[in-house]
Amino acid sequence: MKETLKNNDIVLTGQYLGVVEEFLPEKNSTFVKEGKIYATKAGLVKIDDEKREIEILTHQEKDRKVPVVGDIVIGTILFLRRYSVGLNFYTINKKLHFNSYFFGNIHVSQISNRYIEKINDAFQITDIIRAKVSEEKTNEYDLSTVGKYLGVIHTDCSICGTALDKVGFDKLRCPMCGNMESRKLAADYRDVSYNLRY
Ligand SMILES: [Zn+2]
Repeated sequence: MKETLKNNDIVLTGQYLGVVEEFLPEKNSTFVKEGKIYATKAGLVKIDDEKREIEILTHQEKDRKVPVVGDIVIGTILFLRRYSVGLNFYTINKKLHFNSYFFGNIHVSQISNRYIEKINDAFQITDIIRAKVSEEKTNEYDLSTVGKYLGVIHTDCSICGTALDKVGFDKLRCPMCGNMESRKLAADYRDVSYNLRY
């Protein structure tokens, strides 16, 4: 069998994956015997393009319920502090978690590439935002909204509660009462089209 494995190929426990000259074996899902790499569990092949590391991911890991660094999450701003905001999030990589929620913080320096003078120029309580996990801490996560598709994806007028219209890079206008507000907006603000999974 001289077939080269590709990403997302299904392998079984004990299956031959390749040789150490070919791949860098990941410790938790593979083992090496006489220079040959074998799978220690059944699952999907994942090969890192740069490092050539080979790893086996199970379905549980694909659908895992705990966020890790690099995940994209969606949550609601709970409170504003002087230099950070706190939020709850329920969605990890487009998958909704109804029975559990997580707590995250975004520091003022992690909001935008642009200078944010006051936190409330970027976020308000109840804003729905998309963010990236930048660090795991005990029972909470540090998040970032630096990036084009990160930031507020929905917000309502703080005066009358109507959904605000985007009128500039970081400017919003209420179609009902004319109130102007500013936020760190995601590029697809109020136009979020991707499907979430349950
Ligand atoms: Zn309004």
